[in-house]
Amino acid sequence: MAKLTITGYDAECNCEHCGRALKLGVKTAEKGIIGADCFVKLVAKDRTRWNGNGKPSASIIRERAIIITKGLAHAARSYNLCAHSFSFDLAAA
Ligand SMILES: [Zn+2]
Repeated sequence: MAKLTITGYDAECNCEHCGRALKLGVKTAEKGIIGADCFVKLVAKDRTRWNGNGKPSASIIRERAIIITKGLAHAARSYNLCAHSFSFDLAAA
């Protein structure tokens, strides 16, 4: 399955998916810088990973984009997150 991987963030930019102006854009390996709301729309539902509708919230995605800029060692040490925490399955188009 195709992945969407968070690699960092950028401030004051435009979403490469919908063009909307963003305070914080999520950098992805596969789709460039996109908004957290678009990110959530693009990923597949995974009810074993996320409660409720099976999707992460936009705020969780923004939070992880900020965390990963300091690297995986920091994410593991301070947040108990691993590489898998920053990688999501894309929903079928
Ligand atoms: Zn967008």
